Amino acid sequence: MVSWVRYSREFSEQYDLLKADLLEPGCRECCGGPTLKATDTNYPEAAPFRSEWGIVFSDGYYFRVYESFARMGAPNTGLGKRRHFSFHYGKASDKLDFDGFPEVRKPDTPVADLRIDLDRHNKPHIHLLSPDHIYQDEVCGYSIQDADMFSFLRAVIEHRRAAKTLPELLGIEVLPKKVKNG
Ligand SMILES: [Zn+2]
Repeated sequence: MVSWVRYSREFSEQYDLLKADLLEPGCRECCGGPTLKATDTNYPEAAPFRSEWGIVFSDGYYFRVYESFARMGAPNTGLGKRRHFSFHYGKASDKLDFDGFPEVRKPDTPVADLRIDLDRHNKPHIHLLSPDHIYQDEVCGYSIQDADMFSFLRAVIEHRRAAKTLPELLGIEVLPKKVKNG
């Protein structure tokens, strides 16, 4: 759980730290920069709240990170619990979706190098160069449900500088598929 006050302060601090490395020459921030907002206008300093940020780089790759927090307990505590998140990195579609980010749902959109997701319908999972879902019981070295947006972005910076994959940098090891008997 985290309060809006703390989350919004940390998000702003991390943005200021990371943007020097992520705003590469020739890149474009989706929607002109990150979104950070509490979404219940009656409680502008409390959960629910959400954040989202994306950059398309000049080499055609992009990242998009999103997370949203639902209200926990009484509104005046401000506290939120993370309900959804999605962190992607990969080749960007040249088409943008309704929200101004590279399209991911059309038949011809590239498959991301890595996505880490928690959505309404699925347990925490990752996608690795494939639409297939990889769940926690197939992953070693990384807790998917605790995936941290800013660690992901630091790995993106490192990946773009060095010949290391994102799973390597994040410590994600996918276990070989268990062979089913019969
Ligand atoms: Zn997914």
